[in-house]
Amino acid sequence: MNKIMSLLLIIVSLIILSASISTFYTWNNYRRINPVLENQKSNIENTTESQLSTNKTTQEPISPSTSTEKATTPQTVEESTEASSNIVYIPYENECVETQETISDQDTPTTLNLKTNSDKIFFTKADTQEKVIFITIDDGPGNYTMELLDLLKKYNIKAIFFVSGDTVLGYPEALKREYEERHYIGTHTYCHRSYYQLQKTADLETLKNTLRSDLQKTEENIKKIIPEVQVKYLRMPEGYHKDWVEEIAKEFNYKMLNWTAGYDWLQEPVEKIIEEYKKSLKPGGIYLFHDGRDRGLKTIKILSELIPYALSQGYKFGDPEEYF
Ligand SMILES: [Zn+2]
Repeated sequence: MNKIMSLLLIIVSLIILSASISTFYTWNNYRRINPVLENQKSNIENTTESQLSTNKTTQEPISPSTSTEKATTPQTVEESTEASSNIVYIPYENECVETQETISDQDTPTTLNLKTNSDKIFFTKADTQEKVIFITIDDGPGNYTMELLDLLKKYNIKAIFFVSGDTVLGYPEALKREYEERHYIGTHTYCHRSYYQLQKTADLETLKNTLRSDLQKTEENIKKIIPEVQVKYLRMPEGYHKDWVEEIAKEFNYKMLNWTAGYDWLQEPVEKIIEEYKKSLKPGGIYLFHDGRDRGLKTIKILSELIPYALSQGYKFGDPEEYF
């Protein structure tokens, strides 16, 4: 009898052990798809225009349907972040036109303010040791932007809203309120075009002209709602970053901001996501969230818990303009 009991005990122990191991690996995989600052750094350092063509295979973004398995590949970490989200856009103007567009000189901005190459315009965090952090919100405005603004107002936080050019006209009141409540309006280009996809077929000049056109159209739509706004920041869809993008950003006098950490697109329980954000807090950190379509609801849930936590840890929410 004792032998049977012992045998049963061993079997039960083995089942528990294997369940624990499998849970550990699932969680570990989840953690590995988070964007890593080091990865972004090496991407910046290693990427040059001449590598555009050779990088095609490693720079390929992840399609939503295959994001789970591909997201663990280190080379694709950075671009997987936004590409793996299930955003469905309803453009208020034209869809992204993938055919080549000819852009005349008149279409390029006339207020060029070129800086020297040594001037840094691309950031994944603020260069500071102060316990100061930043909230950035992409893809909107959306259906929960107003509630999100209420939350930010409660804590007197100035965020950067990286808005989509084809979306702003659908939410003019939300955009206006973002501006009136002294947040920053950044451009997230016009229609969330994947430049990782486009670079497979387009040459450098086409890429540059397409981006100029996307940025121009986005500014035009923003200014239809807020004529006096000055757009100062650019975040590329999927965090795409190349030297040539910086050149264009300089033409438009934009600072480019990617992010230190962002997890809100993950299909994980919200509590788990909040924990990841909490763990990632660091001086100068730029945190990525989304408010496009219905995604603001999740952002509100996360921020409602993250903001008081960050404050309790001695962090302040910085004014982006003072650091970037
Ligand atoms: Zn985006």
